[in-house]
Amino acid sequence: MSVERTLVLVKPDGVTRGLTGSILSRIEAKGYTIAELKQVHATRELLEEHYAEHVGKPFFEPLVEFMLSGPIVAAVFEGQRVIEGFRSLAGTTEPTTAAPGTIRGDFGRDWGAKVQQNLVHGSDSAESAVREIGIWFA
Ligand code: ADP
Ligand code: MG
Repeated sequence: MSVERTLVLVKPDGVTRGLTGSILSRIEAKGYTIAELKQVHATRELLEEHYAEHVGKPFFEPLVEFMLSGPIVAAVFEGQRVIEGFRSLAGTTEPTTAAPGTIRGDFGRDWGAKVQQNLVHGSDSAESAVREIGIWFA
């Protein structure tokens, strides 16, 4: 058993659609606790750091434009194996095919929505979590 911390972002589609409360409440209902929470507007510099692994990919520019299009709610959640647990709660990347019962599967729109509009981000490893928490909560 190991208590971990992970970075969760409610992306601009989630915030502007008024889903922040619903999303955070699902994470809390699972038993994870909020260690940090704030609403921010990202900058290009911050996003280039956060998405360093994706710089240069075809979807990088649309992703950055989207992440700059509105407010983001950034949170650090804490709990037993929360890194993998939150990824499971979020569902797979593409919202149209994410499983029902997941955040992306239940709230992701399947009409006219872009792949980047998938509501949430969650760190994918212990190493990423430390790195990303340092970026968003410097
Ligand atoms: P995840 O967020 O599930 O870890 P990735 O790390 O692969 O997914 O991608 C980061 C983000 O970039 C995704 O959450 C999504 O918003 C966006 N994205 C990924 N693949 C595509 C794509 N093919 N087209 C547009 N956006 C994408
Ligand atoms: Mg990822």
